Amino acid sequence: MTKTFKIAVFNGDGIGPEIMRPTVELLEGMAAQSQSYSFVFNTVPAGAAHYAAHGESLPAPSLATARTADAILLSAMGLPSVRYPDGTEISPQIEIRKELNLYAGVRPVRIVPGQPTPLALKDGQAVDFVLIRESTEGLFHSQGTRDVRNDAEAYETLKITRETSEKLFRFAFSLAEARKAAGRGSGRVTCVDKANVFAAFAFFRKIFDEEAARHPDMTSDYAYVDATALWMVEKPWVFDVMVTENMFGDILSDLGAGLMGGLGLAPSADIGDDHAVFQPCHGSAPDIAGQGIANPFAMILSAAMMLDWLGVTHENEEMAADGVRLREAVEAAIADRAGVTRDLGGVASTAEAAAAIAARLA
Ligand code: ATP
Ligand code: MG
Repeated sequence: MTKTFKIAVFNGDGIGPEIMRPTVELLEGMAAQSQSYSFVFNTVPAGAAHYAAHGESLPAPSLATARTADAILLSAMGLPSVRYPDGTEISPQIEIRKELNLYAGVRPVRIVPGQPTPLALKDGQAVDFVLIRESTEGLFHSQGTRDVRNDAEAYETLKITRETSEKLFRFAFSLAEARKAAGRGSGRVTCVDKANVFAAFAFFRKIFDEEAARHPDMTSDYAYVDATALWMVEKPWVFDVMVTENMFGDILSDLGAGLMGGLGLAPSADIGDDHAVFQPCHGSAPDIAGQGIANPFAMILSAAMMLDWLGVTHENEEMAADGVRLREAVEAAIADRAGVTRDLGGVASTAEAAAAIAARLA
């Protein structure tokens, strides 16, 4: 029995369409060989170029399509040259996270053998952890309701709620359990905060403790965000699942991407109770748009996370296994230095990078 999954596709701005096209082709190729699943892709407009042309960054029909889809693929949105009247960049992805209540931003940090990294790893020191960034509140809460007074003072709000934090920590512990069961993690969840300075983070940590008490079989601990930045460079192999607030997660996930060897390798998923968006961590890279040299690997790895998530939530083992297969195809290409684009130290074009993955899937 083949089940058809509806996928909403946001091509976005800059290199967005260039990295989305080969990703959708790879997914279509895998679905064509599958006994159990197929896809209907529905491409919808949004983003900075759309805002410049039509005065709307996230049209209501696009959001409606996303809402009724089984999953959402999003490349990158925003252009430095196009801004809202308050001077901020067009970022409908943040609106989508809020609208669909995608509270768990999942950012795997994995150093793939064969990819140069700034770290000098010794034998046995494997870096493979997941950073979970709360994605609907925290220090991003005041987006759209900023308070700038008389060109003299500006205020933003840090918001932590019990409801979202409980869901976030539940998600973190169940991910740690799944990783441990799959032999990939040590069963450790680290709460990253700044509880020594902010009452909001002391509250965050208190809710973390409550969830940790429900998982006596897991190791739970805390780290201040500043110390975490240091440890991510000094001893990143100690981490398994890390869970943190919105802005801390934003910053640490770029640090994680740096450890991996570049933004072009960093995938992400934004997951809620009923919806999920899969998109690379990088932006729309307008400096290289239209040249055919963008690295599609982070987008493809995000699509692999989508297969994994759809497979697990719909109990479709073939699809979940195909998610692993797609990720391993990217890792195998990197290990062979095949299809490696300029940002990662290679010479391949976007098309050659995608072809290297297709060859390893065949
Ligand atoms: P955002 O604010 O949307 O996160 P940003 O300002 O962080 O965007 P990016 O668009 O992520 O910037 O680009 C940062 C740098 O990384 C640029 O030089 C860009 O060309 C490069 N870059 C980002 N993504 C890719 C990619 N997929 N392939 C090659 N280079 C990339
Ligand atoms: Mg960025």
